[in-house]
Amino acid sequence: MSDLTKLTLKAAVDGLKNKDFSSREITQAFLDRIETVNKDLNAYIVVTGEKALGMADQSDARIAKGEGGRLEGAPLGIKDLFCTQGIKSTACSAILGDFAPPYESTVTQNLWDQGAVMLGKLNMDEFAMGSSNETSHYGPVVNPWKRNDGANTKLTPGGSSGGSATAVASDMCLAATASDTGGSIRQPAAFTGMVGIKPTYGRASRYGMIAFASSLDQAGPIAKTVEDAALMTEIMCSADDKDSTSLHIPVPNWTKDVGAGVKGMKIGVPREYRVDGMPAEIEKLWEQGVAWLKEAGAEIVDVSLPHTKYALPAYYIVAPAEASSNLARYDGMRYGDRHTSGDLIETYETTRADGFGTEVQRRLMIGAYVLSAGYYDAYYLQAQKVRKRIAMDFDEVFSTCDALLTPTCPSAAFGFGEKAGNPVEMYLNDIFTVTANLAGLPAISVPAALDTQGLPLGLQVIGKALDEASCFKVGGVLEKAAAFSHKPTL
Ligand code: GLN
Repeated sequence: MSDLTKLTLKAAVDGLKNKDFSSREITQAFLDRIETVNKDLNAYIVVTGEKALGMADQSDARIAKGEGGRLEGAPLGIKDLFCTQGIKSTACSAILGDFAPPYESTVTQNLWDQGAVMLGKLNMDEFAMGSSNETSHYGPVVNPWKRNDGANTKLTPGGSSGGSATAVASDMCLAATASDTGGSIRQPAAFTGMVGIKPTYGRASRYGMIAFASSLDQAGPIAKTVEDAALMTEIMCSADDKDSTSLHIPVPNWTKDVGAGVKGMKIGVPREYRVDGMPAEIEKLWEQGVAWLKEAGAEIVDVSLPHTKYALPAYYIVAPAEASSNLARYDGMRYGDRHTSGDLIETYETTRADGFGTEVQRRLMIGAYVLSAGYYDAYYLQAQKVRKRIAMDFDEVFSTCDALLTPTCPSAAFGFGEKAGNPVEMYLNDIFTVTANLAGLPAISVPAALDTQGLPLGLQVIGKALDEASCFKVGGVLEKAAAFSHKPTL
């Protein structure tokens, strides 16, 4: 049997159904792979080997009886942001200690209901705050890709879903769950040559997802192909009474959209995304993307999203504001670690000072500041108005076109420490991704080329609200045209 860990999710699910191999075999192959490569890459912080093999045996029994769900027997990795019943779930923060939730997130439950097998929990930036995985309490994740300069510099896989991206890119799972508040699915997918999609806000339930910024947080997958991403998204999304912002509408069959083509579609190219200092090769790749879509029969239109330049500042007000409110619950009384000192107030203070990392503390201070009396109107309210403007810009362009094409990020993967010293420089990496979160829109990143350093670059397709279908159609065409088959050498 060829290496089972190299299969796509679709090929693995088909192979399992045909009984070409068993779930135990493929699960064991992934556990062996994790054993070999995870110590260098640090993608998994918890490996649930015994549980995985138990789930695999149950899948094999169902497959033998001709039963089984759409992911029956397929081993997946789970971002540590998702609560998994009885298994340590900490959003990679020290403050949650060894917290093992007594309940399961809806997204992961949906996967298990379709027969998926859990390999373990994946590393991430602390509370999903970061673009490089350097803020994790469990240490940074390493990108399996290296620059071709022979220097062997360790690169970040992006963040916050860096563990998910590295795990899929280095064949430590078939696909992984991830979450995206300002780009945390799409940027790590782009940095590792993988596909990642953030669905429309409200498509996937936030129940059991450890909250960062509730009006922006959205779950989605990181996968090897657009088809795998569509399959994962179909299963992860559902209407859910346990999340008041969940959309009570049916989940379409997106896998059928992947090969549907773009003939007759109008694709917008927003001129404001041509930012200063963007490397020429990213600009060139964007033009290449336009050419690919034209060849496939799409009409390309130049469009304007005039408030784009305010998106990043607005995001870095709204997200910290919501975080400061969400993270108030970590007081050492209910979950995780408590650092007792003096009276109750001092215990709160010590617990929070010891438990939260520097970046989280920075966000909480920014959030508390912009929400405080006297500053609320100047910052938070203003940012909310900008957010509305950004959504109106999108409404305007989507009255004339079906989807937008942009680069996913303004750079390829960078090295550890290259941006970590300057938070603003780190935040600038999210410039093309935060707009979709602010407007609640679906957006996919598809690997499109290697840059001159030999690193993957992604193209982003932003769709109308609830029109993931167009993201998958355009993504499918880009994937086919790019024929990106490069793999990192480990
Ligand atoms: N990098 C962005 C931030 O640090 C986005 C994070 C995310 O999407 N979770 O806030």
